[in-house]
Amino acid sequence: MKFRHFGEFRFIDSIAPLCVFRDSGLIQGIGDDCAIIDFNSDNYLLITTDMMVERVHFNRDWILPQLLGAKALSTNVSDIAACGGVPQDAFISIAVPDSLDVEYVQDLYTGMAEVAKPNLINIMGGDTTGSKTDLVINVALTGRVPKGQALLRSGARAGDLIVVTGPLGESAAGLELLSSDIEQDSAMRNQLIDAHLKPRGHVAQGRILAESGYCTAAIDVSDGLSSDLEHICKQSGVGALIHAEKLPMSTALVHASELLDKDVLEFIVNGGEDYVLLAALDPEGFSNVEMRFHSQGLEIWTIGVFIETPGIQLIDTNDDSREIIPRGWDHFR
Ligand code: ADP
Ligand code: MG
Repeated sequence: MKFRHFGEFRFIDSIAPLCVFRDSGLIQGIGDDCAIIDFNSDNYLLITTDMMVERVHFNRDWILPQLLGAKALSTNVSDIAACGGVPQDAFISIAVPDSLDVEYVQDLYTGMAEVAKPNLINIMGGDTTGSKTDLVINVALTGRVPKGQALLRSGARAGDLIVVTGPLGESAAGLELLSSDIEQDSAMRNQLIDAHLKPRGHVAQGRILAESGYCTAAIDVSDGLSSDLEHICKQSGVGALIHAEKLPMSTALVHASELLDKDVLEFIVNGGEDYVLLAALDPEGFSNVEMRFHSQGLEIWTIGVFIETPGIQLIDTNDDSREIIPRGWDHFR
């Protein structure tokens, strides 16, 4: 069977039973944003890895090497943030086609340093090899989270609020603008294209959620709201109700959707690479958490509620409800 028929997530489920041979130290293996390993008396060790492949994840004509390097590290920072942790040490492996100049790859590292420095991440090693045609960048990143504060995908309960820590759909719209030749107003174009090219992991937001004691589950939105919400729902054994009118929606996104002749909700629900956090929050704690976000100049939106009935329902502005079938990113579809 081909991967495009089998699907990425079904493949991961199929190999998971072949992967664990030792219980000691294992808190969470395959299936969450990071692996969680028992480390010392105070902290868990978090580990995540993500690969970027030319022509699959990026097009060298559309992104400068500095931005590509920063994005490769940031997407991993985002997975550490999704577990409530702070990033620590990175390992960078690259496969470089012969056609690429050394300066290009050095610029990748300049971009990575722009993310590593403010996050106090050390790059501790990696691997450098050749490639026939495409550039491949793999980042592995460790982090730590105080014991008792690790955020998993599996803890959401019916009645918990669904919250997001940033806008959705802007990155997907930015990608479409990059590949379209439509004339665009520059402020709108910059906002959406920056969302695509310059994501930053929401570490401070993840720390507030983790420290608050009110967050029951979290994930970062990499594949798109519908797919990532489905991961929380499946792993927590709940369903979800989203209110369309509560979804954060910038004028830039609405305007771009009109230009591109696309439904704005399509970008928000099924877009990807937003790298904001999507979390379940005990409603008792919402105002406390919101206050902590605002005191640090950060934003949080409630977009719905987790329910007992499985599946994801979207309530539109006329109060009509429809089921959302997850159609976010699957690398083989
Ligand atoms: P994320 O989008 O948060 O990076 P993924 O969807 O890439 O997560 O992966 C889901 C889970 O499957 C993670 O726990 C990841 O470590 C695991 N995983 C993905 N690919 C593989 C693989 N080839 N072998 C083992 N585990 C994998
Ligand atoms: Mg993730």
